Amino acid sequence: MKYISTRGQAPALNFEEVLLTGLAPDGGLYVPESLPTFSQQDIASWAGLSYTDLAFKIVQPFVDDCIPADDLKAIIDDTYVDFRHPSVAPLVQLDKNEWVLELFQGPTLAFKDFALQMLGRLLDYVLERRHQKVVIMGATSGDTGSAAIQGCKRCSNIDIFILHPHQRVSDVQRRQMTTVLADNIHNIAVKGNFDDCQSMVKASFNDKSFLPEDRQLVAVNSINWARIMAQIVYYFYASLSLGGPLRPVAFSVPTGNFGDIYAGYLASKMGLPIDQLVVATNTNDILHRCISNNDFAKHALAHTLSPSMDIVISSNFERLLFDCYDRDGAAINDLMTRFQTEDVALTDAAFANVRSLFDSYKVDDEQTVKTIADVYDTTEYLLDPHSAIGVEAARKVRRRDDIPMITLATAHPAKFPEAVMKAGYPHEPELPHHMATLFDDEERCTVLDNELSSVQQFVVDNITA
Ligand SMILES: *Cc1c(COP(=O)(O)O)cnc(C)c1O
Repeated sequence: MKYISTRGQAPALNFEEVLLTGLAPDGGLYVPESLPTFSQQDIASWAGLSYTDLAFKIVQPFVDDCIPADDLKAIIDDTYVDFRHPSVAPLVQLDKNEWVLELFQGPTLAFKDFALQMLGRLLDYVLERRHQKVVIMGATSGDTGSAAIQGCKRCSNIDIFILHPHQRVSDVQRRQMTTVLADNIHNIAVKGNFDDCQSMVKASFNDKSFLPEDRQLVAVNSINWARIMAQIVYYFYASLSLGGPLRPVAFSVPTGNFGDIYAGYLASKMGLPIDQLVVATNTNDILHRCISNNDFAKHALAHTLSPSMDIVISSNFERLLFDCYDRDGAAINDLMTRFQTEDVALTDAAFANVRSLFDSYKVDDEQTVKTIADVYDTTEYLLDPHSAIGVEAARKVRRRDDIPMITLATAHPAKFPEAVMKAGYPHEPELPHHMATLFDDEERCTVLDNELSSVQQFVVDNITA
């Protein structure tokens, strides 16, 4: 399996190379040159497989001959050990033909664990084989950093440095990062805001000369191909649980960077009968404007009750556009270059392609809170604000009542007490049992000035692997 860039000007890579690479050198994102496809018979024969066994079936063709099948099997068998529900991704029914897929049973209570638990293990395996050690640097406003730390805490070939804005992430989010005491985990609280953290990480990738020569710098942000790949599995799993592939299903996905829902699109292209994909956004609605109205212009960032979906640009959308422009890298390069400086729209043909499978809806904070309250009143099921946006959008734009609509529940409500209490819930929602000690556990974190040289010096001084 080869991977090519959406902008058509970068060399093709194999899986191992793409795992260690972020953006392509031409500024594009890597996608498979061709997708594996499965017949209805293949898919039907997977009914009843455990989540882990299904994951192997789906992931193997993407990894191809880069990892021997037995080794890949062992990696995948280990990936879900820290998920606390026996089915890994349980489905809960809210109403007739209306379901939520709980993707928050992993160690940090958000769906990013699916991608990062697998990514950490794949990276460590490949690095071990190459006798190579790397440094991961990332900036986080909350969810990604903790998922990355949990995914890398047992990796002996990786040091991970996560920058978060000092005193500007929630207590749960901070503690999920700082209570991981493994030697290769390094938390830095920067006396600045999230943008400052992100700028320092970007600057470090642009000029890596501060690092010792034998260390490569690796990114684990949401454009990493392996993250997308890991997320394809639960679309198949949910469908098989509800009578697929004989019976088509629809999905609604709380969306920010478009990584999660893009994995659903890939599942459909690989042969899974999906009737509709709903892009659910908060007031950061570039994708809703694009899909409903072909308005693909950048707006200023808004801070909402669903912070993990607060984005200006959805980086992974470029991967879908590549297909919708019939894989014309030059056209994508032109579109994305103009997008930087002007308000752009898609061609009519590309717009029609997007609309064939996707619908979209925007949900503001007021409606988010109302939906949490409504769903709790009628079902006693407590949604987190991101998942509530998914449920509301699904209810607004679903095409067919006779097809099961599955909303991806991307986070546990205990991660976002503010929104839940605004919805009238009488107290902070409780953390699951296995996290009961989170507020007593020892923390380790270094507070640094908002200064690139201090952060880079800290990185160099603390490499352990
Ligand atoms: C990251 C995140 C999202 C958005 O996912 P994308 O892949 O960026 O679209 C939604 N909900 C939660 C809770 C998240 O952490």
